[in-house]
Amino acid sequence: MLVFSTETSCDETSICLMKDREILEHFVFSQDIHAKFGGVVPELASRSHLEKLQEITRFLLNKSKIKLSEIDFFSATCGPGLIGSLLVGSTFTKALALSLRKPFIPINHLEGHVLSTSYNNNILYPHLVLLLTGGHTQIYLMENDKKIVLLGETLDDAIGEAFDKTAKLIGLSYPGGLEIEKNARNGDENFFNLPHPLKHEDSFNFSFSGIKTHVNILVKKNVLDKDFICNLSASFQKTISKIINEKIKKSLIKLEQDNIFIKSLSVVGGVSNNKYIKEKLENMLTLDKIEVYYPIEEMMSDNAAMIAWASIRNFNDKKNDLFFKPSARMEIKNNFT
Ligand code: ZN
Repeated sequence: MLVFSTETSCDETSICLMKDREILEHFVFSQDIHAKFGGVVPELASRSHLEKLQEITRFLLNKSKIKLSEIDFFSATCGPGLIGSLLVGSTFTKALALSLRKPFIPINHLEGHVLSTSYNNNILYPHLVLLLTGGHTQIYLMENDKKIVLLGETLDDAIGEAFDKTAKLIGLSYPGGLEIEKNARNGDENFFNLPHPLKHEDSFNFSFSGIKTHVNILVKKNVLDKDFICNLSASFQKTISKIINEKIKKSLIKLEQDNIFIKSLSVVGGVSNNKYIKEKLENMLTLDKIEVYYPIEEMMSDNAAMIAWASIRNFNDKKNDLFFKPSARMEIKNNFT
């Protein structure tokens, strides 16, 4: 089964040609026009997707020597994300499907992330998925390979957003995650005592906006020299990692009370690139004998390979729906419908 998939939910324009479980071609164009604004500008993102989609499609088809007519079906991210960007990508892909009279499968971007580790791992169930991206911070429970249930999520900023906003406050460039990780290596992680929102709350939810407010106060009170930036980056990263570990630990305890004994955990999304967060989480879960999975590198940040994989993996459960309306807000519904 050969699928052509697109991903355009935010500022990455990506296309993948996947045959069964093999990535034949995959290209991710990261839009750099947003850097000078310190965040993604939706209108610019849509325009850039429009410019790039045809160019990347031609390039990949030429490179692979695959004809459009050989493609069995098409799939595209239809939400959640920036609505203009979603419309550009899904309409482009639908037009190809329509012109070739092939099925079009709408895919939920979050489902793409959640299922990304099943591409390269034999998942042990019951399974937890920790989704850490620029737009979302969520914990999902998968008791089997068909059912995804949202357990908790951030009540305000997403984790990637918290990294970007903190980086901006202390004068680091966008995207902030890498910059904070780099500067944290030369800082003292115990230098600043940052708040730990929802610490005593018995829920699966996260909150990060209080940390950002605290950082803002520290920025106003201090000189932004190298020591300050490094110490703050290290303290921020440590706090975020502690919040994640404590939340996962709490989730495991709560689930055990319901007789659900988690065997493995996937960390997906762009923030799963952060080595410090990964290491601390692995150290904790090794003690609980819980396996930790990560996606292959090209499925970590936003990409069309995970969209292709989600559509191939669950092809039989998916509906051919050329009239599916993309939506900026979209949840994963049970059993992938
Ligand atoms: Zn994403």
